[in-house]
Amino acid sequence: MSKNIDKMSFTTRAIHAGVEPDTATGAIEPAIYMANSYTLPYDASQMNWSASEANIYTRNGGVNQGMLEKRIANLHGGEDCVVLASGVAALSALFFTKLKKGDHVIFSTVTYIATYRIFNELWCEKWGIETSIVDCTDVENIKAAIRPNTRLIHFETPGNPTLCICDIEAIVKLAHEHGIKVSVDNTFSSPYNTRPLEFGVDYVVESLTKYINGHGDSMGGAVITDHETCEQIRYQAQVNIGGCISPFNAWLITRGCETFPLRMQVHNDNALAVARWLERQPCVSFVAYPGLESFKGHELAKKQMSHGFGGVLSFGLKGEHDLYNRVVTHLEVFTSAVSLGNAGSLIVFLGEDDERMYLYPEEFHGGFYRVAIGIEDKQDLINDLKQAFEAEGLATVD
Ligand SMILES: *Cc1c(COP(=O)(O)O)cnc(C)c1O
Repeated sequence: MSKNIDKMSFTTRAIHAGVEPDTATGAIEPAIYMANSYTLPYDASQMNWSASEANIYTRNGGVNQGMLEKRIANLHGGEDCVVLASGVAALSALFFTKLKKGDHVIFSTVTYIATYRIFNELWCEKWGIETSIVDCTDVENIKAAIRPNTRLIHFETPGNPTLCICDIEAIVKLAHEHGIKVSVDNTFSSPYNTRPLEFGVDYVVESLTKYINGHGDSMGGAVITDHETCEQIRYQAQVNIGGCISPFNAWLITRGCETFPLRMQVHNDNALAVARWLERQPCVSFVAYPGLESFKGHELAKKQMSHGFGGVLSFGLKGEHDLYNRVVTHLEVFTSAVSLGNAGSLIVFLGEDDERMYLYPEEFHGGFYRVAIGIEDKQDLINDLKQAFEAEGLATVD
């Protein structure tokens, strides 16, 4: 790889970083190495069987994983990256490696469900990790929750599913003054919009399943941080816990990277257009999207997000529980499904009985939709919502 690539723009690096033409065949695209193991050197007796620097066994790493790791590290401006089977595998690999019994973690009220269960329930009960769940949109709340044994502050910005915005720089400053590490799950923003390492964050986690792969056809996760920590994660979590990614999925996600900046720009633009339209509808009770001037974290989001505000928004309807279900049955472009970052738009109704509703702002309490805006034509998306609202007798405006 020419060293100049590293100085080029994000879009160019998304296509070229980490992958070179295959020297064995001349193929301009990388092969998929579906091997579980690699041939050993003449004298293997001195090898470190848990290492990842040489190709030994696919749970330690491999050719396709290595290419993806270089590309993702590059896009985040990180020294190194570990890729794993899913976003959750990446989160738990990081937490497993960096935390131990008696440590205290502060985590945001608005996180991915698995993060909530890990820190609110599973790891406290099983492994004696102390945790505090804190509204991280106000740094004062975090300050008040710090204990002598606090080791990690973990949050998402925008948070899933309320889209709340946390001040990355202010949290990092507070944490580092107290010798505490900071991890950010950057999945909703993606490295196209936000690169948290630039704000001093210690560990970044991405669900590659979402925008970076982008086509809804594979799962993966990444931790991006310094080389030493990545080596610890490989040695402790990847090799010994085993959440390794399939070489095929690593290859798919490497390919997805090439169009990721283009796709992400369309997600950003489409979501803003849909959010603005929704905000004007009399039947809509609220719209949560960081790109709206009316949104609480908008000014901060503008500071932290460079090209746009992502493809996810949430909104409520003025109506009862089943109205949400009925509206969904009329949609022709949107699919009722979880996940985000796919080419196609997805919508999910989170009802008022959702287990974490008590943690969300008041307007969410009656239930709401989380919408993952895809890269279809934006007017088709708006028209689809419009006809679905009208089919239920809801008045709309253009
Ligand atoms: C989807 C998601 C995850 C989990 O990723 P998987 O690849 O599904 O395991 C983690 N964090 C956020 C914010 C997500 O949206």
